[in-house]
Amino acid sequence: MKEELEQLGEKASEKHLENKKFFAKLKKKPPKQLDYLMQELHEQEFQSTDCLDCGNCCRTTGPLFTRMDIERIAKHLKIRPSKFIDEYLRVDGENDYVLQQVPCAFLGADNYCSIYKVRPKACREFPHTDRKKFHQISHLTLKNVAICPAAYNIVEEMKRRIKI
Ligand code: SF4
Ligand code: SF4
Repeated sequence: MKEELEQLGEKASEKHLENKKFFAKLKKKPPKQLDYLMQELHEQEFQSTDCLDCGNCCRTTGPLFTRMDIERIAKHLKIRPSKFIDEYLRVDGENDYVLQQVPCAFLGADNYCSIYKVRPKACREFPHTDRKKFHQISHLTLKNVAICPAAYNIVEEMKRRIKI
């Protein structure tokens, strides 16, 4: 996995234009069965990709934290939400709460998340490859293929399976 992650940025950048064109076409004419296909591709990929071997999303980027995320995590940590914000979060250019720094403070050396059960919704859903109407988040996916090897593989498989 280490080698795969080292090469991912370069591989994603080589595919960027091709992916951009593919998603532009997909947006114009999404196949009827896209939701089912994405579910299948996502499940297939995560049968062979183990996030515990990777942790790249937690190391290199972070989720945004909703109010509900903050309250849930602060309760779990037995601190006030305001203290949680002061210690771990900052407000980004889009007015969202994000991590002050990466790697995420809750990521262990073994790639386990120490707040796994109460982790932010965005962490639970990353890399969003099983979400409905997947073509609507292509701007995010174009970035995520450079971070997440599973997302990269899923997009490659999409291009093989969807002829547009
Ligand atoms: S909260 Fe957990 S899952 Fe989310 S970025 Fe941090 S370590 Fe990763
Ligand atoms: S979601 Fe992607 S980037 Fe994050 S740990 Fe799993 S394979 Fe790695």
